[in-house]
Amino acid sequence: MTHQGSCHCGRIAFEVDGEPGPVIECNCSHCSAKGYLLWFVPRESLRLSTPEADMSTYTFNTHSIQHHFCPVCGAAPFGEGTGPDGVATAAVNVRCLQDVDLSALEVKHVDGRSR
Ligand SMILES: [Zn+2]
Repeated sequence: MTHQGSCHCGRIAFEVDGEPGPVIECNCSHCSAKGYLLWFVPRESLRLSTPEADMSTYTFNTHSIQHHFCPVCGAAPFGEGTGPDGVATAAVNVRCLQDVDLSALEVKHVDGRSR
């Protein structure tokens, strides 16, 4: 199934193929601040329907992940990077997907804070 996602104001819109879950809730300082609930998919499963240049991007630490966010409304719908296996990967914030029942998703808690 294809799910529609966007930031709050719609400046960033995309669709992603697959079924969300289990999703990752990480307690590191960055994930906590953003409130991410992340679903990892191959980057090719995600199609941006708005211009790439309309997104702002935050990186930190090793700068290996591009955390995209909307410069207008501040929502952070997804990030992208390269997985350990060398595959281009997107981390979709399922909170920014329409028609997904968040309470029905299996959540895996990751202790990123102590790493
Ligand atoms: Zn926005």
